[in-house]
Amino acid sequence: MALRQEPHVLVVGGSDSSGGAGVARDIETISAAGVRTCLAVTAVTVQTHDAVMAIHHLQPGLVADQMRAALRANRVSAIKIGMLSTGRVIVAVAAVLSEFPRIPAVLDPVLASSSGKALLEANAIGVMKRNLMPLCHLVTPNLVELATLVDSELAGNDDDILRQGKRLLAFGPQALLLKGGHATGPQSTDILLSSNQKSIRFEAPRGTGTMRGTGCMLASAIAAHLANARSLHDSVVEGKRFVLNRLKESSAG
Ligand code: PLP
Repeated sequence: MALRQEPHVLVVGGSDSSGGAGVARDIETISAAGVRTCLAVTAVTVQTHDAVMAIHHLQPGLVADQMRAALRANRVSAIKIGMLSTGRVIVAVAAVLSEFPRIPAVLDPVLASSSGKALLEANAIGVMKRNLMPLCHLVTPNLVELATLVDSELAGNDDDILRQGKRLLAFGPQALLLKGGHATGPQSTDILLSSNQKSIRFEAPRGTGTMRGTGCMLASAIAAHLANARSLHDSVVEGKRFVLNRLKESSAG
């Protein structure tokens, strides 16, 4: 059968049986932006909305084979990467990405669930920084992930955030979106940081709603807009608008 020509986002990540996060959330979000998805599952998890009961890692070769088949079947215009589970899976994903340097890749560096369960082996963080980040267009850590990735204390102010961001940027991603959503204060600030441009701040009133899977949603929405050939800046604006609207809907009830 011929290659499917509509732009697709290739989603690389774990399944979450509760539907709150992971690939189900990604597909929902990318579809809402009118973009099609194809899929490479990295891990199968058993979860409710409160707990992660089991994680089954998939073989790295199986992950790479899914990615290559998805890329053969469709016109993939962006790649969204979420839960990677093990260092060996990261190496396999990086090998495929390096064959497709022109397709923008957005990495949500998922380290743990909100309930505190590790979703990436601790010894895989170095592999993620060295092997995968140099191949990524955008990496979207929250402040806890940022501190862990650069082996520091949680940033206490903007200077700390920028200092930690610059240390992470040195690993080679083209840009970072540093997400301040879990900090405190009336405003929630995200900072877009890239080596060749001034940092750009995105301020929004802090919502009252809480929702699982917002990290998955934001990275997926950004990837969907990149797949539609929007700029990185506009894709971030659209992605943030989508997540804020979903948070508003969930707090309204
Ligand atoms: N499960 C999977 C498969 C995920 O990809 C993620 C986050 O990306 C989570 C769980 C964590 O989601 P939450 O922080 O909403 O618990």
